[in-house]
Amino acid sequence: MSDTEIKKIILPLQISVRTLAEKIETSPIEVIKVLMANGVMASINQNIDFDTAAVVASELGFEPELEEKIETKPEDLGEIPFWRRVIADEDEKNLVARPPVVTILGHVDHGKTSLLDALRETNVAAGEKGGITQHIGAYQIKHKGKKITFMDTPGHAAFTSMRARGAQGADIVILVVAADDGVMPQTREAANHAKAAQVPIVVALNKMDLPSANPDLAKRQLAEIGLVPDEWDGDTIIVPVSATKKQGLDDLMEAILLVADNMDIRANPKGEVLGTVVEGELDRFRGVLATLLLQNGTIKMGDTVLAGKAYGRIKAMFDYRGTRIEKAGPSTPIEIMGLNDVPHAGDLFRVVESEKKARSIVAELEISEKTAIKPTKVSLEDLFEKMQAGETQELRLIIKADVQGSLEPIVNSLEELGEEHPEVSIVILHQEIGNISENDVMLATASDAIVIGFAVEADNAAERLAEKEGVSIRLYSIIYDLLEDVEKAIKGMLKPEMVARVTGRANVLATFSVSRFKVAAGCRVIDGVIRRNGRMRVIRDAQVIYDGEIGSLKREKEDVREVREGFECGIAMRNFHDFEVGDLLECYILEKETL
Ligand code: GDP
Repeated sequence: MSDTEIKKIILPLQISVRTLAEKIETSPIEVIKVLMANGVMASINQNIDFDTAAVVASELGFEPELEEKIETKPEDLGEIPFWRRVIADEDEKNLVARPPVVTILGHVDHGKTSLLDALRETNVAAGEKGGITQHIGAYQIKHKGKKITFMDTPGHAAFTSMRARGAQGADIVILVVAADDGVMPQTREAANHAKAAQVPIVVALNKMDLPSANPDLAKRQLAEIGLVPDEWDGDTIIVPVSATKKQGLDDLMEAILLVADNMDIRANPKGEVLGTVVEGELDRFRGVLATLLLQNGTIKMGDTVLAGKAYGRIKAMFDYRGTRIEKAGPSTPIEIMGLNDVPHAGDLFRVVESEKKARSIVAELEISEKTAIKPTKVSLEDLFEKMQAGETQELRLIIKADVQGSLEPIVNSLEELGEEHPEVSIVILHQEIGNISENDVMLATASDAIVIGFAVEADNAAERLAEKEGVSIRLYSIIYDLLEDVEKAIKGMLKPEMVARVTGRANVLATFSVSRFKVAAGCRVIDGVIRRNGRMRVIRDAQVIYDGEIGSLKREKEDVREVREGFECGIAMRNFHDFEVGDLLECYILEKETL
């Protein structure tokens, strides 16, 4: 088909399968087929998002464009460092250099906080009256007349998502590694996040003052995870420091500026105002406080900010020292007052025309969250097609196994498989012993990878996140099966088929209200197991009267993952509240079956 024959088509952010079919003058079945071929199961009345609709439209010979009057862009969902693309689209002549944004990651107790403090004390306080303390989770320092912005990323495990995003909001990651402890699991994880976000790493080899420091061993371990020291002809700068003795800090700063100089760290101060939420909190006296890192444009008092789903006019604005300011430019961390709700760390923010506009965007977002089905990012089943379409030549994997003794042969065999199939490179982003965790899924999300578990399970939180983000998790108990699936996938012989597998059944013994509109069922599990992450059929008089998601599963008021045969439990469904005593509940999970 020549270019002139491609028909342009304007699509909204959300469109039902039926309407899409009408617009492109084809049957809904045809649309559903194309969706299925792309791994998306949708019914005729279901809404799909623009990206998905665009794939269908282009496969059917159209050139899709996003309808302009819709202000919400898919990027508003906050998945990617959207600001990077905005800046990339800016006119060259408007771009000016901005300070690099640096975040510190590393294993717990390796000295992140100490290093941040040391850098701040030696550089911020020195130049300022009265040694002003840092006010918010970000600050700027000056080294040789050049500014560097530091972003705090809380080390607590609950903040892992923030750390994943922290790496995405930053230009450079300082990976702190204690010289006496070497590379540890969170070191590896942090390195993976930085790599996934394509953010360069400078290693701060900390605690060099300790007699037990063993820098050579640490360097060897770093080299093993792909961070080869420059002194060994690698491209990772490793700076020995001591946070407590404040040694090596100048060298560290020097290294950051060196890396920054080799990058294109610019922004348009007159461009679209946007950035990342560093943290949000509710202050008893001042209301919602949000720490923002501005990535592009210039923000001013009185602007209306939309941060995730929170919005409002800026009533007061402060710099990192708590000083009131009227405006701020790119790479500046600021704190603002005036949002109607607490935004989440990692959310994107931008300035919009008015609160009215912000409200309509939020409404739009809520609709799309409710109705959109997210296509699976990558799965083994669609690998071949993506390879054929030239979309990928890489199969990225995260591998978790029960013991080292199984991890090694799996990795080795996969590497061999990769050698047999030069058409695809098998990239193992991360391999570790243990259950599949939220972190693994987060890494997979950030890097379009598949998570493979061998003789392990996926944590509840991991499963939930995988479902939300469309990350494919595959569990195996026989190495041969695993390898066979991967090989089939490379050859395009792996066909998905969803099969429902019943895990257990329960009888409704009683019903009770849990809130004004919600009713839960008191049940006894009569066989198998009821799983919190499963789906459920409600069967009455041998008829399935409802089929949907389980909302909560409790045993004696405690939320539980599963309840086994013989036990009593409370079950609430997400969108069904008409339980009756005597109903039979059948819990099942959808599994992809390979032919
Ligand atoms: P984080 O968990 O990575 O933020 O680590 P912290 O900054 O809390 O440091 C953990 C521990 O290591 C604390 O007891 C620090 O005093 C100590 N520590 C941090 N940096 C150094 C260093 O350069 N030398 C020595 N000897 N101890 C350090």
